[in-house]
Amino acid sequence: MIPRDPSRRRFTTLTGLAALGGLVGVSSRASAAQTSAPPQPTRALRMAHFTDLHITPDRSSEPGMRHAFKSANDEGVQFILTGGDLVMDSFATPREEVNREWELFHKIFAQHCAVPVEHCLGNHDVFGWCKSKSKQTGTENDYGYARALRELKLDGRWRSFDRAGWHFIVLSSVEPDPADECGYLAFLNEAQRAWLEADLAATTLPTVVVSHVPIVTITPSMRGESQRAARKTEIPGGLVHLDASEVHGIFRRSGRVRLVLSGHTHLIDRCVADGVTYACSGAVCGGWWKPTETYCDPCFALIDLMQDGSFNYTIKPTGWKNS
Ligand SMILES: [Zn+2]
Repeated sequence: MIPRDPSRRRFTTLTGLAALGGLVGVSSRASAAQTSAPPQPTRALRMAHFTDLHITPDRSSEPGMRHAFKSANDEGVQFILTGGDLVMDSFATPREEVNREWELFHKIFAQHCAVPVEHCLGNHDVFGWCKSKSKQTGTENDYGYARALRELKLDGRWRSFDRAGWHFIVLSSVEPDPADECGYLAFLNEAQRAWLEADLAATTLPTVVVSHVPIVTITPSMRGESQRAARKTEIPGGLVHLDASEVHGIFRRSGRVRLVLSGHTHLIDRCVADGVTYACSGAVCGGWWKPTETYCDPCFALIDLMQDGSFNYTIKPTGWKNS
């Protein structure tokens, strides 16, 4: 079919090219002049969300991570925000193995990460809480969150910062389960929730939030087997935030939060609630560096943050296949 309005066809083509990256400024001005369409927003920052890396010397994380960094680099990524589960596991793993995981983590980032990076912590980055399997007593000076904070030179579990005209909030919602030392629950403790409210009240910038455990997600609907067996749909308290309604309420009232990034489920989804977009960005390791039919293939989120507070979010394969 021949388009009735050739200028419209040109606009569509240019917009498509712009969406492929790098051409936003030039093509949008050209198309606006030819069609009087509103100008396209200018990109402030191209970033990647790398979640669930699960680095371990025992599987293919080294070549897998190399592919992830190359793919991000080829896309022109300027900044990486991780989503936690940086190492395979330190929650229920003895110290010697945890040492090897962090050693490889530092080596990989030193060799392949060429852009600034900010880290978020996941359940697998908490050291030793499952004492029976980790063989820790709880009195070690790097027990719990202390180990990952020391490895990453972080002052605290949660924080915020500004970059390229956007505000970033890094949350840390993995808390001990009083009923199970080898379990955990996901929610913001009182201090963190008060901090979040105050932090959001103090910014006027469009905001990206990252939480390892999803706050709002539809991914539990994709884990059907156990639900079928139980003949009901249940979401465990370690899989999704238990305080989703309160945290979503804080986001909604602030009016600043545009995008909330998560991992944890090794699945990909995106949903919009009251104008806040929640996205699970799969996993850089896919199914823990093994082939899987249930979980995602190795991937990351490529995100363009625009000067006008809008964003584009795309899932990119890292190019590594687990075998
Ligand atoms: Zn994970």
